[in-house]
Amino acid sequence: MTKYKPTIGLEIHAELKTKTKMFCNSINDPDEVEPNVNVCPVCMAHPGTLPVINKEAVKSVIKVGVALGGKIASFTEFDRKNYFYPDIPKGYQISQYAYPIVSGGALNGVSITRIHLEEDTAKSSHDSEYSLVDFNRAGVPLMELVTEPVIHSAEEAGAFARELQLLLRYLGVSEANMEKGEMRVEVNISVSKNDVFGTKVEIKNINSFRSAERGIEYEIKRQTELLELGQKVIQETRGWDEMRQVTFSQRIKETSDDYRYFPDPDLPKLKLDEVPEFDVELIKSELPELPPERRAKYISLGLKKDDANMYTNQTSIGDFMDGVLLFTNNENEIKIASNYISSDLVGLFKDGEVPNKIEIDYERFVELVRMIIDGKLSSRGAKEVLRIMYEKGGIPQDIAEENSLIQVSDIDSLGKIVGIIIDENKDAVDDYRSGKEASLRFLVGQGMKLSKGSADPAMLEKMIRERLQN
Ligand code: ADP
Ligand code: MG
Repeated sequence: MTKYKPTIGLEIHAELKTKTKMFCNSINDPDEVEPNVNVCPVCMAHPGTLPVINKEAVKSVIKVGVALGGKIASFTEFDRKNYFYPDIPKGYQISQYAYPIVSGGALNGVSITRIHLEEDTAKSSHDSEYSLVDFNRAGVPLMELVTEPVIHSAEEAGAFARELQLLLRYLGVSEANMEKGEMRVEVNISVSKNDVFGTKVEIKNINSFRSAERGIEYEIKRQTELLELGQKVIQETRGWDEMRQVTFSQRIKETSDDYRYFPDPDLPKLKLDEVPEFDVELIKSELPELPPERRAKYISLGLKKDDANMYTNQTSIGDFMDGVLLFTNNENEIKIASNYISSDLVGLFKDGEVPNKIEIDYERFVELVRMIIDGKLSSRGAKEVLRIMYEKGGIPQDIAEENSLIQVSDIDSLGKIVGIIIDENKDAVDDYRSGKEASLRFLVGQGMKLSKGSADPAMLEKMIRERLQN
């Protein structure tokens, strides 16, 4: 059964968060709950209306293309994709066919075939007795990205989709929320024993990354079993049944011929390279720091891979780290800062939910880090100071003093303590000198007691050991 190799290609749609729709002035608001309010004669397909291209949407797709290292077309056009369904009032969807805006590029090592721009359909909901259609979504700009069939596991497909979501958010072009349908992943999958691709099946209605991965695993198994039984995989579109965790046949796949694509005569052709705002070099220079660069930055600073991923994926934590980095002076401070951010600070989040902003002053946080490095705080004490800083703010030195958390680690104060406990515990000292290691622990304990827990135990132990050697 394991001889079959899966081949996967993804088709991912993302709603662009432009102010208005793709071809009209209706508001593009994915959070509008009242149905059919963001509509106008254009997106309702009234006769005699004409579409106008939304420049912001085109620019968003170019941004994504540039970020992925794809080739931006110098010429592009929109085509009509004809089909009948109640969610498509014109009887066709304006999409792109022969001239997508972007060709090529890669993400996470997966080659991208193309990215084009189209309009979203209306949203239909079905009851046993009737169906309802909400046209608020009709005509919202929708980006479609298609990958080459170069993915070979559920995990790799999931990682690609998650990384794309992150990129779209970094670029500010889409919220790309899967649960809200702002990002939709369709999976094409086949299995084969050799280099010739098997017949592919397309999986739709996936509403989470996890479901995409499960759907892929399910199809690998189903297709493999069919072939093992000497049967054929038929090319079709299958739905993902979230309840039963299975795919089911929806329709035998139509081919592009069925859609009778042709260039939309109502829209102008676009010579992208003649539009100043679409200048590729300009757009490149405007890009923010992107996830791969951000991860690499943390790695180059000596941070752990998991932490680098956390700061890149959870941007509010990463933004806090970046703020802290403005004040740290060396690799050790950076390392300690990161350790306290990625474990202790994260542990303070209410219900484990990452806040939108971390309200601790960067410079004060670095002061805390320096107190830790200087041995002024035990790790327990440091956690307590951090908790107070997170909840109420404040200066770490003051917080530590007010709460008697300052750890005594200066040689003079500790030296006095060591002197006293050696004088007062003659038996334990003799035992230690005659080879009883356990007595050392007792002496350290006495020192901690004497200092009311404020002494640095590691320093104390070192100093007692040294003193008793002479
Ligand atoms: P179609 O003409 O059916 O739309 P495409 O060639 O345009 O097919 O590919 C659509 C998607 O399916 C792409 O993501 C592509 O990578 C993927 N794909 C193509 N052939 C296969 C295959 N044999 N197995 C798995 N995925 C495939
Ligand atoms: Mg295709």
